[in-house]
Amino acid sequence: MRLILLGPPGAGKGTQALRLVDRHGIIQLSTGEMLRAAVKAETPVGLRAKDIMASGGLVSDDVVIGIIADRISQPDAAKGFILDGFPRTVPQAEALDALLKSHGLALDAVLELRVNESALLDRVEKRVAQMTARGEAVRLDDTPEVLSKRLASYRAQTEPLVHYYSERRKLLTIDGMMTIEEVTAEIQRLLDALRASDKKTAAKASRRRAPANSTEGRGTAAKSAGKPASGKAKTGAVKRAAKVPKKATRPSRGGAPKKSKAAGKAKSVTKRTAKAKSAKKPAKRAVKKPAKRPARLTKGRRVL
Ligand code: ADP
Repeated sequence: MRLILLGPPGAGKGTQALRLVDRHGIIQLSTGEMLRAAVKAETPVGLRAKDIMASGGLVSDDVVIGIIADRISQPDAAKGFILDGFPRTVPQAEALDALLKSHGLALDAVLELRVNESALLDRVEKRVAQMTARGEAVRLDDTPEVLSKRLASYRAQTEPLVHYYSERRKLLTIDGMMTIEEVTAEIQRLLDALRASDKKTAAKASRRRAPANSTEGRGTAAKSAGKPASGKAKTGAVKRAAKVPKKATRPSRGGAPKKSKAAGKAKSVTKRTAKAKSAKKPAKRAVKKPAKRPARLTKGRRVL
């Protein structure tokens, strides 16, 4: 299994990554950890990255892509991996796509942990307090000032990846405000659903391929190969897509369309009422005082 954990600093990526490692026997590849190790060991990469990291900026794409390319090629990554902190920019995501393709590999899912920004500072402060209590060295970038810079980097450079992966139907969004246990359970539930849906799709594709080796048959199989993403949207892909449209449709949930719809409904009801009234009563009035008919209709319309 090959996964990406996406989320702002303090979202809980590291915590969930460790749980996924335990459960699935895959390795965690954290560019932040690797860079911190490089800084500590004073390697050329570490020396280049040190100040950038301390200030909350992003290390250059070339450097991190190089680190990941090396790491993914190693034997312990063969069973699968969780990328934590990478990709962090669209060029990094594109480089990862190319890298995986060159290895004949595919990404299973991108797990986005969505968290209220207001909670992040508290979480990071708590992490600092816990590390201090354990006598561990505190990260240089875990200060309120640097955190706000890291958040700004996240918003500007990393958040576009939500769109990038939702377009590619890889995104699974999880509410990162739940408890650690609940987040773990939700991730598991989504991954189970994904696996079940992928199995179904694979079975369907092989059934379609099986009947004949005719050109027609191949055409159908080829079609179905492109289809799962949209056709599958009823099962596991529902979850991938489900979270995305939510966001995408949010603007349209605003007042305007609803109001106009409701207004339209009200309009037609009122119209109908007005029509009904004018159909019934005017007949009477037409006999009595025909001149008043238009006035009533005008009144009816004004209600609209
Ligand atoms: P966070 O807890 O903020 O997600 P990480 O431990 O993942 O932090 O990374 C710490 C720092 O390392 C980042 O602020 C950044 O300077 C650098 N870094 C880590 N991963 C990347 C990356 N993929 N691209 C650029 N810089 C990175």
